[in-house]
Parts: sequence; C-alpha cells; structure tokens
Amino acid sequence: MKPRLNIIVGPTAVGKGTIVEFIKNNYPNVHVSVSATTRAPRPGEIDGQSYYFVTKDEFSKMVSAHQLLEYAEVHGGNLYGTPRLPVEEALAKGKPVILEIDIQGARQIKNNLPDARTIFIAPPSWEDLAIRLAARGTETDQERKTRLETAKLELAAQDECDFVVINDEIPRCAAEVVDLLQS
Ligand code: 5GP
Repeated sequence: MKPRLNIIVGPTAVGKGTIVEFIKNNYPNVHVSVSATTRAPRPGEIDGQSYYFVTKDEFSKMVSAHQLLEYAEVHGGNLYGTPRLPVEEALAKGKPVILEIDIQGARQIKNNLPDARTIFIAPPSWEDLAIRLAARGTETDQERKTRLETAKLELAAQDECDFVVINDEIPRCAAEVVDLLQS
C-alpha cells in the first residue's frame, strides 16, 4: 500500500509533542517531519531535532524557494513550516510520514494533497487541557491566555478531521495513531 502523509493536529498542550516523540522513539519505520520555525528554542530543545530554528529572513527565503509544503503564523507572531524535501524522500522510501502542525497548515496540505489524512488528538476534557497548559509553566500569563484562545478554535476544528484519538494515556494513544497510519 502507498504510504501516506498523516497530519497530527490538536489544541495546544494536549500532548501532541509527547505522542509524536513516543512514536519517534518506538516506531522507527515512521518518519516524523521536523518543522522550521522563527520562534526561539525552549530549554532542552535541539536545533534540527525539535525544530530547525531559523531567522525571519531565512524563513522568507525558504518560502520564496518553494521549500515548504505549507507554512503558517501560529499564536500571533511566530512562523512555522514543513520542509518539503525530507517528506517527499520518506514517502518515496515507503515510510508513512507524520506532520505535527496547526490546523491552518493541515488545511493547506489537505487542499494540495487530498490523499493526506488528519488525525486530531483530543484532551479527555477542556479542564484537563487548561490544567496541562498551566502545569507546563514554560509560557508567561499573556502567552498562556493567547494559547488558550487558540486552543478553543483548535478544539472546534476536530469535526473537520478524518480521525479523533483521545490522549488519555500516551502509549495507548500512540499505538492507536500508529494503527491508523497502517490502516
Ligand atoms: P510550539 O511553539 O508549542 O512548539 O508549537 C506551536 C504550534 O505550532 C503547535 O500547534 C504546532 O502544531 C504548530 N506547528 C509546529 N510546526 C508547524 C509547521 O510546520 N506548520 C504549521 N502550520 N504549524 C506548526
């Protein structure tokens, strides 16, 4: 079967990153795309692994050279985009590909590549999501407020996704996502 492009979407702090990290470490046949971003690295993030951290100027050049499959401004200010070449190479090698991107990027990909599938990671509840965001403690109060606003919009987007998986427990949720990649 032809490998597919799978887009993981979901609200901020739902644990998408942890799920994707779990898949990266436990399912080596799956290619997880590394995005480019203009936001500053958080403590512990590694350039080329967490993201490619680039300047606004470098990002614009990638856009002009058509090196990004999609890109969007997320959380009011920072740009994020999916480098095209590694995705195309992985699909050509027969590996299923996962993109962890926001809903605007997911819509761009769906418009251009209707074969791509969207998998929405949902929190067990809205309260659970707000608690997770507060517990992370990496954002200022203002940033947290902006992210909660974005999260409300992102939660509403689950109806337009192909599948919804609830992140109640990481290994279970990751296994369900991997099953979907193979279905
Ligand atoms: P964070 O700054 O917390 O790492 O990510 C913020 C948001 O950017 C998340 O919702 C994430 O899904 C989204 N994002 C990460 N990479 C990309 C990308 O390449 N394209 C788009 N459109 N969104 C992305």
